[in-house]
Amino acid sequence: MDLKSGYPYWIVRNGLPQHFAPLESDARCDVAVIGAGITGALVARELVEAGFDTLVLDTRDAAWGSTAASTAMIQYEIDTELAELARIVGIDTAARVYRACEEAIDELGTIAANVRVAFDRASSLYIASRRWHAGRVRREGALRRAHGFDVDTLEAGDIAARYDIEAPAALLTATAGQVDPYRLAIALLSDIAGRGVRVHDRSKVVHRIERSRDIELHTQRGARVRCRHVVVAAGYESQGWLPERVAANRSSYALVTEPLRSMPSWLRHTLVWETARPYLYLRTTRDGRVLAGGEDDRLDIPARRDARVQKKAARILARVGAMLPGLELEPGFAWAGTFAETTDGLPFFGAHPRLDRRLLFAMAYGGNGIVYSVIGARLLRMQLERRRHPLAHIFGFDRMR
Ligand SMILES: Cc1cc2nc3c(=O)[nH]c(=O)nc-3n(C[C@H](O)[C@H](O)[C@H](O)COP(=O)(O)OP(=O)(O)OC[C@H]3O[C@@H](n4cnc5c(N)ncnc54)[C@H](O)[C@@H]3O)c2cc1C
Repeated sequence: MDLKSGYPYWIVRNGLPQHFAPLESDARCDVAVIGAGITGALVARELVEAGFDTLVLDTRDAAWGSTAASTAMIQYEIDTELAELARIVGIDTAARVYRACEEAIDELGTIAANVRVAFDRASSLYIASRRWHAGRVRREGALRRAHGFDVDTLEAGDIAARYDIEAPAALLTATAGQVDPYRLAIALLSDIAGRGVRVHDRSKVVHRIERSRDIELHTQRGARVRCRHVVVAAGYESQGWLPERVAANRSSYALVTEPLRSMPSWLRHTLVWETARPYLYLRTTRDGRVLAGGEDDRLDIPARRDARVQKKAARILARVGAMLPGLELEPGFAWAGTFAETTDGLPFFGAHPRLDRRLLFAMAYGGNGIVYSVIGARLLRMQLERRRHPLAHIFGFDRMR
C-alpha cells in the first residue's frame, strides 16, 4: 500500500535531509520500534529518555509515510466534538482527553524546540459550515468553557469584522500550533541516532517469532532483531498486525498554493476548519503559502486515489477561495494521503488483548494524530516502566469490548 499520492510540499521543501542506513546484520535491543514516522520518532524519543535501548526500523525512507502528507495542524480539538465524545465516554473522560491534548501542544512545542524545529503558536477557528450548525457550535463552546477550556464563541458579525468570513457562528481558541511534521520527525530521529539509537530505514519487518525470553523480528533483507518489546508504530499499515479491524482507512487530499503576494496577518497564525464532515481545513506555511486539505473519501487504493488528486485539489482551492474571497490563490503542489477514522475519534495505544502483551501498538488515528502521538509516546513509556497512564484505558483496545 502506498500511503500518499503526489509529492507533498514538505518533501519538496526538505528533500531527503538525512540518510539512515538499512539494517544489514543481526541486532539486539530492549525495544524495537516499527515505523519511523512522527509516531515512531516520538515514541523512540520517549524510550531513549527513559533509558531503554531502542532500535527503529522503517520499510520506506524515514517519515515518508502519512507524516510527509500531513498538514500538521496541531489542535486539542479532536474531530469528535467534546459534546459528542461525552455521549460516548462520559463528560469526565471526554474532558480529560481534551485536556491531555491541550497539554500535548505545549509539550510538542518544547520537543520541537529541543531539536531546533520551528513550532509556531496559532489560534484555531472552528466555523459553523451551515446555519443549522450554529446552535451546536454555541453549545459546544459553552460546554468547553464549563470544563475550563479557554474558547470564545463568535457570532456572524464578529466573524465578518475580524476575518472577513461569512459564517453564522464559530469557536476561537488560542491554544493551537503548526509545524513541519516531516522536518520534525527527521530531526527527532537524527537527534536520537546521535544519542545511540539505531535507526534503519528501507528495512521492512516481514516476520516475527515470539519466544518466552524475547521476540525476534525478521527484515526483508534477512537481518534479525531480538528484543524484549516491540512497538508497532507502522501508521495505517498497523492494522495488518491486528486480529480485527479497529479503524476505517480514508484518503485526505491536500494542496499548497504558491506564496501569496499578501495575506491578512491573522491568517499567518490561525488554523481554520469547520463543522461539515468531511471538513475543509487550512493553515499557512512560513514561506507565505496557504496549505489546505479536505475532500476526504473512503478510497484506499493508491492508483485510484492518484487519479483523483488534481480534481480534488481544484475543489479544495475553490472552497478556500469561496471562504476567503480576498486571497489570490495560485495552486502549487497537490497530494493525497492515508489516514484512518475510529468510531469515537480516539487512537489506540497499548497491547491488544488477543496478542502477545509484549507487542505494543501506537496507532495515532484521526485528524489529530500528531497530538495523539505525543500523548501515546508517554503512555507507552509508562507501560514499559510498569506505570499506569491516566488515559491507558480509554486509549486501549479494551474499550472496544
Ligand atoms: C492529508 C493528511 C492531513 C493530515 N492532517 C493532520 C493535521 O492537520 N494534524 C494532525 O495532527 N494530523 C494530521 N494527519 C494525520 C497525521 O499525519 C498522522 O496521524 C501521522 O502522520 C501518523 O504518523 P505515523 O508515524 O503513525 O504514521 P506514518 O507516517 O505512516 O509512519 C508509519 C511508518 O511505518 C512504516 N512501516 C509500515 N509497515 C512497516 C513494516 N512492516 N516494517 C517497517 N516499517 C513499516 C511506514 O513506512 C511508515 O513510514 C493528516 C494526515 C493526512 C494524510
